[in-house]
Amino acid sequence: MTEQRPLKIHNTLSGKKEEFRPITPGYVGMYVCGPTVYNDVHLGNCRTFCSFDMIYRYLLHLGYKVRYVRNITDVGHLTDDGEDRMAKGAKVAQLEPMEVAQRYTVGFHDMMRIFNTLPPSIEPRATGHIPEQIEMVQTILERGLAYERNGSVYFDVPKFAAENEGVYGSVSGRVLEDLYTETRELKSQEEKNHPADFAIWMKARPQDLMVWNSPWSVGFPGWHLECSAMSTKYLGKTFDIHGGGNDLKFPHHENEVAQNHGACGCHPANFWMHTNMLLLNGKKMSKSDGNTISPTELFTGTSEHTSKPYSPMAVRFFMLMAHYRSTLDITDDGLMAAEKGFLKIMETNRILQNLPVNARDFDGSESDTDRAILALIHDAFAGMDDDFNTAIAIASLNEMGSFIHKLANQQIAPGEISPWVIERLKTVFSTFLFDIFGLQDESANSNDSGTLEGLMGLILEIRGQARAQKDWATSDKIRDGLSAAGITVKDGKDGVTWAKA
Ligand code: AMP
Ligand code: ZN
Repeated sequence: MTEQRPLKIHNTLSGKKEEFRPITPGYVGMYVCGPTVYNDVHLGNCRTFCSFDMIYRYLLHLGYKVRYVRNITDVGHLTDDGEDRMAKGAKVAQLEPMEVAQRYTVGFHDMMRIFNTLPPSIEPRATGHIPEQIEMVQTILERGLAYERNGSVYFDVPKFAAENEGVYGSVSGRVLEDLYTETRELKSQEEKNHPADFAIWMKARPQDLMVWNSPWSVGFPGWHLECSAMSTKYLGKTFDIHGGGNDLKFPHHENEVAQNHGACGCHPANFWMHTNMLLLNGKKMSKSDGNTISPTELFTGTSEHTSKPYSPMAVRFFMLMAHYRSTLDITDDGLMAAEKGFLKIMETNRILQNLPVNARDFDGSESDTDRAILALIHDAFAGMDDDFNTAIAIASLNEMGSFIHKLANQQIAPGEISPWVIERLKTVFSTFLFDIFGLQDESANSNDSGTLEGLMGLILEIRGQARAQKDWATSDKIRDGLSAAGITVKDGKDGVTWAKA
């Protein structure tokens, strides 16, 4: 296989960007924590999954074979008051917990399709991997890093921390002392040796609905355990990338590392990647705080926070405009700007793909314009190679767009750009927009609109030639004719634009 370009990825473990070298050259194993399917995904969840979709797509673009594992949490994720989220959802809707899981898994998949994300290679469910989780609890017990208390099994955090210096806290940066005050698992506090210990198996209470037999009790696995067991099963003891939202660093990812380390004696992932939060009114978007917009509200224009509907691809573009490690505040103004940017970049691409590549006008030398465009193409990929910086890539594409518009309007003579540079631009635009960013051209009936774009490109080219020859009669005739057909033509400083009335 060919040598990959150097790629830098920010690693939460070191707090720095590091050169990415997969364990097996050419192959990447990536695990991303999936949704807890007890209610509809909100836009914040979608941001994280769209970010990892872009990361997955870019790794594929670089030529890696990627095994992308994203789980479905359908048991064991407890609320702050110790109730299983699935069981709580089931009680509220008077359904079987599995009906709840099925309903919201289907809803999640629908939403992921609407956002045009690629399906993961494997999507394991926690409930489908109970034997693997029980086996992991057994191994951790055998290694002396957990203890049983009244049918529940707890991970012994102080013992693990003492035996493996620098491991506990390596993801979240927390020190053990903080955990006295921060631990959220209030339910079985009195059974634990230390407040930082956490349950890896929980004995069921009479009200618990999702329970399994185990050597310790009829109960269910702790929430963090599924990701440890399933990542090991499908990606091995140590794999390349583990991802999730920032808010999962603690306790979920910290405890995952402890369990993997406890069971296998090694760190599970070489790179830990964390996406930043989508904010609403400056605060993390979160269902439990009631601070959410659902994607559907956004698409239909029924959210109190927005003035109009926004299409899924405009929203995806809005997310891509920010780097995945920056917070992103969702506002009507921000969405409106993103929509405008999305429509413009799509129009630029349509114009570009219809540009003729006229080898006859080319004198064989590399022009300044060629060099400027090639430098922008380099910048776009360099941005992506530097920790997936989509914001830089979009800015570079927009700058290329100015050249494309000038070329289409004959403000740049066709001979000033080499035919191969135009061909390269065409490939770069479609690769970025569709393969890497995962955008779709949403224009209604894109075949018809493609034909119209092609015709308009030709008509405006003829008009441009007439104007260059000061043939104002022909130029006016074209403009008036188009106007009669319901198309207005505007001569602006960035070139000629047109719109249907
Ligand atoms: P959950 O279903 O709560 O486990 O969350 C699924 C994923 O969405 C996790 O990776 C979370 O970190 C992520 N997430 C939750 N809220 C937000 C938010 N406001 N912005 C971005 N990602 C989020
Ligand atoms: Zn997880």
